[in-house]
Amino acid sequence: MKIYKDKCLNSLDTLIKLIKDENEYQLNKWGIQEKSGFEWMTYLTEEVGELAEAISEFEYRNGNNLDILKEAIQASTLALKIAEIAMITNFDLQELTNE
Ligand SMILES: [Mg+2]
Repeated sequence: MKIYKDKCLNSLDTLIKLIKDENEYQLNKWGIQEKSGFEWMTYLTEEVGELAEAISEFEYRNGNNLDILKEAIQASTLALKIAEIAMITNFDLQELTNE
């Protein structure tokens, strides 16, 4: 099995651009959503499952790395939406940033 080395987020500017584009796509498709924490987690889990499928297709069949990138960006965008909701939901941000 092939091993992949951490790229240390050297492409972070590009990744942020892709996340912003994915956010715009989601907002255009579904508008501003209101969900319970469990619903947000369910959607994130679905995206993580699709990422796992894309990786599996890449490793064992004729999948491509672009599908992995797309699914990773979709999962990341949802995870960041959850993080942002958590930021404004009554916890000590100062404590988190000092860790
Ligand atoms: Mg997906």
